[in-house]
Amino acid sequence: MKILANRMDLGFQKHQAEYEEAALRVLRSGWYILGNELKTFEEEFASYNEFGSDNRRLESFDCTANTDDCDTSKVYCAGLASGLDALWIGIRMLGIGAGDEVIVQGNTYIASVMGITMNGATPIFVEPDENSQIDIDAIERSITDKTKAVMVVHLYGQVTDMTRIVDICKKHGLLLIEDCAQAHGAMWKGQKVGTFGNVGCFSFYPTKNMGAFGDAGAVIAHDPKFIEEVKTYRNYGSHKHYYNKVVGANSRLDEMQAALLKVRLKYMDEITDERRSLASRYSQKIDNPQIIIPKEVDNSYAVWHQYVIRCKNRDKLIDYLNEKEIGSIIHYPVPPHLQEAYAYLGHEEGEYPITEEYANEVLSIPMYNGMTMEEQDYVIDALNNF
Ligand SMILES: *Cc1c(COP(=O)(O)O)cnc(C)c1O
Repeated sequence: MKILANRMDLGFQKHQAEYEEAALRVLRSGWYILGNELKTFEEEFASYNEFGSDNRRLESFDCTANTDDCDTSKVYCAGLASGLDALWIGIRMLGIGAGDEVIVQGNTYIASVMGITMNGATPIFVEPDENSQIDIDAIERSITDKTKAVMVVHLYGQVTDMTRIVDICKKHGLLLIEDCAQAHGAMWKGQKVGTFGNVGCFSFYPTKNMGAFGDAGAVIAHDPKFIEEVKTYRNYGSHKHYYNKVVGANSRLDEMQAALLKVRLKYMDEITDERRSLASRYSQKIDNPQIIIPKEVDNSYAVWHQYVIRCKNRDKLIDYLNEKEIGSIIHYPVPPHLQEAYAYLGHEEGEYPITEEYANEVLSIPMYNGMTMEEQDYVIDALNNF
């Protein structure tokens, strides 16, 4: 049996008629940028994040965004052209720039770090914990008088103890940025990720849990003024046609992607439920002393963007899986501090031993909506016989 690491076609096929209807609606509308599809998508995605467990609307949010004039029971959204844009524009609109330090976990995808460095700020790497999430104890040790913000990446769709993170940010007066590119709908104590800090940054790259059919991203925040500033910035800094307040960017989420994302959003609970049952089946059935399986953190609701195992013989395991025609992916083989692009930061091999160890041991096994039990059993048997 041939099993790919990921499948994007199945999600489309499951609701094909609705996606096609949305696409045709946009094609026939004659309006392709900054229109009603984007406006309604932003409202719907903001609202999605205002709801917690059991689909209850949250009345109060546990968060750091306690600016005096900001009602933290509400969420606002601005659509952008990608997840990277959500990060760098979100960070720029928070006023973070040259001379500022942002604490981030070392084992993240490079885009998290680029969101910081594109603004001239310096990433301060900390090690991951046993769940591949930011090591919370290491955050406090890394705070200096230059620290402006903490960026929490909900890596693989997992969520760490956000109560402790919020407390640390409040105690030290730090801004909190959440990279939610892998964690749409994930929760800590019934509250969705992206709503704990000053900005939540999302990617809708096609392989993400909430994938578009091209590049797309968004930021969410409790502060409507912040969201208005992002909306101005994404459109050349223009608040009114041909009147430019600031030197901005072109980062508009187009009408086609917005319309298609509205369909995807309708099925997000279904998508998440399915991933959670696939993950729980893997966790119950994978049984091999050479393989460490991931755990859902207590009090959290993981959305399992990836099911990431760890194995000392990872590279042999990949060859073995390849022989059995089972796809797998390493997220990620080279951590940002050792990337050529970041040589100028002056980090050395051995500086972040846990981050580096994970880069040598992690492996994402096949996990996608529409995966059959037969396919999953084939992967499980292979892993157990390795
Ligand atoms: C995918 C991803 C991004 C970047 O999103 P793009 O839409 O590809 O720009 C940022 N951070 C993390 C953790 C990601 O997985």
